[in-house]
Amino acid sequence: MVILLKKSYDKAQLDSLIAWLKSKNFECHLSEGTSKTILGLIGDTSTLDIDLLKAMDIVEDVKRIIEPYKNVNRRFHPDDTVIEVGGTKIGGGNLGLIAGPCSVESTEQIVEIAKKVKAAGANFLRGGAYKPRSSPYSFQGLRDKGIKMLLEAKKETGLPIVTEIMDISQLEHFEEIDVIQVGTRNMQNFELLKELGKIRKPIVLKRGMSATFEELLMSAEYISAGGNTQIILCERGIRTFEPATRNTLDISAVPLLKKLSHLPVIVDPSHATGKSSLVKSMSLAAAAAGADGIMIEVHNDPPNAWSDGQQSITPDEFKDTVDAVKKIWSFCYGVVNEKKD
Ligand code: PEP
Ligand code: MN
Repeated sequence: MVILLKKSYDKAQLDSLIAWLKSKNFECHLSEGTSKTILGLIGDTSTLDIDLLKAMDIVEDVKRIIEPYKNVNRRFHPDDTVIEVGGTKIGGGNLGLIAGPCSVESTEQIVEIAKKVKAAGANFLRGGAYKPRSSPYSFQGLRDKGIKMLLEAKKETGLPIVTEIMDISQLEHFEEIDVIQVGTRNMQNFELLKELGKIRKPIVLKRGMSATFEELLMSAEYISAGGNTQIILCERGIRTFEPATRNTLDISAVPLLKKLSHLPVIVDPSHATGKSSLVKSMSLAAAAAGADGIMIEVHNDPPNAWSDGQQSITPDEFKDTVDAVKKIWSFCYGVVNEKKD
């Protein structure tokens, strides 16, 4: 349920309303937006008397929320959530440009790519240390050693790091990591999501390859219900009957998720297509659709990449893509915010 407050509400009356609702075991979430102030309630509201609430001095309107997701619901929080990592922002008009290899392979490799993607305009470095592979015989990632290499690349370039966690037991290695990624295969690993709700670090939550928008938002709700509201949703393609691409990029995810939720939405055109030749056009589509960022696999030597070489682009191709994405994005939505050093 959401309670819309009158424009000039009395703070003392609001405090006593919140105290009364808390005494009835409701969780209260106050969202003071640019145009509206909303008090969101979580709990069994079936016994609450809506007319009684509506009659209160400070209340403009009261609405039930039918969707099962509450915290991440746009109705709970009308303004865009902005995620900030060391001065770099995603959401609310700030474009996240996340780039790097599928897998971290060596310190030299990740540092070289980090320098190149930074020069091309990236504001985050990605790289997998713990790798979810379809075959147990494929390269499984450098694991904690890979995390150390990512931190070395951060030291060299200043780029904040995005990397994937696969299991709660790995969390101790993520202390210095800036943004934790939950991959498509773990979107409904509810124990992992609950654990990530307890920490205070941004999470990139990728859409399960056969998950509905509601399922994705419910997974985000799991993290948010624990108190960690810094969540970035990522559309990375879904399974369809079409074998020509690795997955099918569902571009409608961008405007739809942004309508349903206040969380930033980014697109991963690399896993969505599985083809390096399609990455630029799908990045442009993402920008035009209003994505808050893109996450692209970039490798210094794609044919010899240890994983996902077929969908990785070179640093030069990344630069070309970023330049075009910025043009589309600023044409449609205004200035692309740049980090000020
Ligand atoms: C990745 O980003 O390297 C990855 C494994 O992505 P996804 O979970 O989307 O397959
Ligand atoms: Mn990959």
